[in-house]
Amino acid sequence: MTRNEWGATCQAVLDASVPGTHFTPFEIADVGRRIEWTTLQAPAIPLLDTALRLIDVLEWVRAENFSAPILVNSWYRDVYYNNACGGAPGSMHMTLGAADIVKVGTEPEEVRELLEQHPDADKFGIGSYEGFSHIDIRGHMMRDAPARW
Ligand SMILES: [Zn+2]
Repeated sequence: MTRNEWGATCQAVLDASVPGTHFTPFEIADVGRRIEWTTLQAPAIPLLDTALRLIDVLEWVRAENFSAPILVNSWYRDVYYNNACGGAPGSMHMTLGAADIVKVGTEPEEVRELLEQHPDADKFGIGSYEGFSHIDIRGHMMRDAPARW
């Protein structure tokens, strides 16, 4: 699937399922982005169900406390891209169920505190890094949860 095909296909799913969402196909999967020896490929379309669940959480983070944009550093990674960027084996990013984000005006530690107040917090993986946060919905995908680092 080409970058443009991915954009159109994903946008159709977003329009049908979460009309008005702040998140875009190329935030979910920046198809064609190059790293090291590899180029990010489009995810399998059925994986979008997982992205939709994560979008619910990200829209909540965007709106909660005070409304501010969410910048997406990394969401989907195929297995080659994940290896090239040093992602964990079995990374939730390969399922579309994880994203590395910045909430504008909010430090990662504050994003963590926000996420701990979400009703599904016990199903989340939450990681705080220098300048960004990792959030995943592992507990919705039959993986051990919660996880914090
Ligand atoms: Zn991550």
